[in-house]
Amino acid sequence: MSLSEFDLIEHYFKRTCTTENSGVAIGIGDDCAILDLPDGYQLAVSTDSLVCDVHFFADVDPYRLGYKALAVNLSDLAAMGATPKWVSLAITLPEMDELWLAEFSRGFFELANKFNVVLVGGDTTKGPLSITVSVKGIVPRGLALPRNNAQADELVCVSASLGEGALGLACKLNEHTVKNRQYFIDALELTEPRVELGILLRNLASSCIDISDGLTQDLRHILKSSNCSAKLELDKLPLSDLMREEIQTGSINEQSAYQYALTGGDDYELLFTISAANLAQLNKLIEKSEVTIPAISVIGFVTPLQQPLIQLFKQNEAVSFSLQGWDHFKGQI
Ligand code: ADP
Ligand code: MG
Repeated sequence: MSLSEFDLIEHYFKRTCTTENSGVAIGIGDDCAILDLPDGYQLAVSTDSLVCDVHFFADVDPYRLGYKALAVNLSDLAAMGATPKWVSLAITLPEMDELWLAEFSRGFFELANKFNVVLVGGDTTKGPLSITVSVKGIVPRGLALPRNNAQADELVCVSASLGEGALGLACKLNEHTVKNRQYFIDALELTEPRVELGILLRNLASSCIDISDGLTQDLRHILKSSNCSAKLELDKLPLSDLMREEIQTGSINEQSAYQYALTGGDDYELLFTISAANLAQLNKLIEKSEVTIPAISVIGFVTPLQQPLIQLFKQNEAVSFSLQGWDHFKGQI
């Protein structure tokens, strides 16, 4: 017999909260969740939807969908320097498919447990498949990382490497035949939210954003709201060893790799501005950290406001690149 809505919630989403200091006074099962905020902290809230045929393919592995739905939300908390605490999940399902639900919730809770995030509520409805996740995190009062505080002469930095999720998507669309296909698809689907890095940046970075729509588009958000411009050095954009291998073996050309790195999106790396002194301090903290935090690359610097907002250089020569990013209503812009 098919499960009822309430059996479904009970079976797949209600978990006994084992985390000490979880702050959950009332969790799943009442009209609202009631959460305790520690003294001296502010609440950081962010919501992201994943819609079938827009953000994922209908035949997506449900484990990976559950994981990614939470990962992209945690990435927003990371970009504010917030510590993730709670999450709610609104899920619309075309049918009751228990195998699908078991895998979806396994992926979701794998990541939730990793970051001690408690699922405290949500909504369950029937209709075209879509997932909306809302995360809540805490950040010491006044220390959240805004977009509007980049200053001229600061460095523009990015975590780990760029363009891999975009190449993964291109592989899924059969636009490329590459040697390390599964690696790039994993980069797209098993995104690593940079939560620990965001927390380290609290006292050090002047502005921060996570790269979801492409480096140049997301950098433009920082620059516009900070009234600044930036100069970027193409050769400093971090490409992973496997991306370089694809270039060397001719699976993709260098131009495509840089295009993915600049405009591809789906990186979920942190892009931030920071003074040189604070970057040195950050690198020391990263070295000492017990959890692995990805390397930071300096890709350019902030300048006073000028046009174009972003200037690209390759060995001191200005280069022109089409700096598009993704916009849901316009498509590539
Ligand atoms: P209400 O009718 O008061 O909105 P619901 O019947 O929608 O309550 O949900 C019952 C309880 O289950 C609520 O506490 C709600 O937050 C929780 N809930 C519903 N769907 C989910 C879900 N997909 N994941 C987690 N909790 C859920
Ligand atoms: Mg409801």
